[in-house]
Amino acid sequence: MTDYYYNGNEEQSQDYLFKIVLIGDSAVGKSNLLARFSRNQFHPYSKSTIGVEFQTKTIDIDGKEIKAQIWDTAGQERFKAITSAYYRGAVGALVVYDVCRHQTFDSVGRWLEELHMHCDVNVATILVGNKTDLKDAREVSTAEGKALAEAQGLFFMETSALDSSNVAAAFQTVVEEIYHIVSRKVF
Ligand code: GDP
Ligand code: MG
Repeated sequence: MTDYYYNGNEEQSQDYLFKIVLIGDSAVGKSNLLARFSRNQFHPYSKSTIGVEFQTKTIDIDGKEIKAQIWDTAGQERFKAITSAYYRGAVGALVVYDVCRHQTFDSVGRWLEELHMHCDVNVATILVGNKTDLKDAREVSTAEGKALAEAQGLFFMETSALDSSNVAAAFQTVVEEIYHIVSRKVF
């Protein structure tokens, strides 16, 4: 895991840039989680071609400025065609499923395999069950999500990009974990 960006020996000039990828089946809400987190927006319809590869959001941890560069797909996961360039250099990942579509939860194992084919085993990963606002349509219980996360050694959170719940917390969890991994190595 060498692709994080670390610059500066002086305390006041430390600068970090972490690449984080969003993965998971089509229409689970990846783009909306990012839109909510980076711009506090929600889009009721899927936009498969946003045309932007990533969004950058600055986060403060321990008084240090961390730039999270969060990559989103342009819908190519629908054709199972995420390229290695997408994963290259990623030090964090959000693996997203839709709590209202069990098949998207069943795909999580495949996404993890793909992630680990391309990234270091230490890639900081959170399992994210999205769309908790749709209470009546739920197909994946919280306990099921939690159990899978524990078995795979992942962080776990349930979110709603629609009502914002846990969205910032999910991204923050990944960034903090990367920071802890990096600072153990650097200092
Ligand atoms: P992606 O293909 O994984 O990037 O999914 P999108 O972000 O494009 O979302 C797919 C659809 O699910 C869109 O119609 C979104 O408006 C909707 N959606 C995304 N997140 C949520 C959520 O938290 N709650 C609800 N109710 N709908 C959501
Ligand atoms: Mg998308």
